[in-house]
Amino acid sequence: MSSCNCHNAVNLSYFEQLLIISFKEVYLLNQLHTMRNPWSVNGLTVQCRHCHQSFTAQRINCFDTLLWSESRQVLEELTFFRPVCPHCQGMTELLYPSRYIDAELGVTAVLVPDIENQDADEQFSYLNRYLGILSNNCIQRRVVGNFYALAEQMRIRQHGLNDRAVQLLKPLIIGSLQSRGLEVWNGFFMNLIHPETAQKMNDTIYFSTQEDQSKAYGEDIYQFDIYLTNGDIIPHGINDTAYQICMNIVDAKGFMEDDGQFHHYDLSWAINVHNSLQED
Ligand SMILES: [Zn+2]
Repeated sequence: MSSCNCHNAVNLSYFEQLLIISFKEVYLLNQLHTMRNPWSVNGLTVQCRHCHQSFTAQRINCFDTLLWSESRQVLEELTFFRPVCPHCQGMTELLYPSRYIDAELGVTAVLVPDIENQDADEQFSYLNRYLGILSNNCIQRRVVGNFYALAEQMRIRQHGLNDRAVQLLKPLIIGSLQSRGLEVWNGFFMNLIHPETAQKMNDTIYFSTQEDQSKAYGEDIYQFDIYLTNGDIIPHGINDTAYQICMNIVDAKGFMEDDGQFHHYDLSWAINVHNSLQED
């Protein structure tokens, strides 16, 4: 009997240890970040949208990859702005102003919550007024409206892509899903896939400029997460010929050069560009 208790005790302490380790890891991460970058993290009182009780969540005001080496990983995981309520385990999604500064990838993105529904010109003139004091002109500056778009800015640069061409891919995918009766909120670039064989992939749209369309199946696939208005997420891909078509549009519209100022390129922008092509 005593050995049985002992066995249980060992198991219990093993799980206790696991909990402590995960707590310490989180604590260490926050502490490291706070030490190097004291103004960029603070606590945020959140009211759970399910049980309406309050709890404290971490608020990240700035992802500066030079000051905080884990910041890309935190941004990649997309969980930091969706804290879980300690009372009911329900998830609440947060949206607050934040920044992503990545000198290595050459991008700075500012999150202005709900920018889609604001006077963008006023916001941009405020931001661009400060550019005179910034010396590095190799940086592309973007304004985004949510954390998905903030992380997307990072992923686009990690794959060396043109962010305007990536935005222009979205209406091509979303239009095809809408024609199947799905109600789409938005879509965000996730990954670039290099197929090993020229085989048609599911949930992928193929554009082809050649007679033999099967050649398109071996091209790189640009993978997006498409968010439906009911909360479902549908992964969907589109091939490199489509991206090259969008690069030609970027070039034809004179968007290839970056002027170093803050710009807001999102799904609405991309739809307007596609519509303007039909008017031309
Ligand atoms: Zn709750």
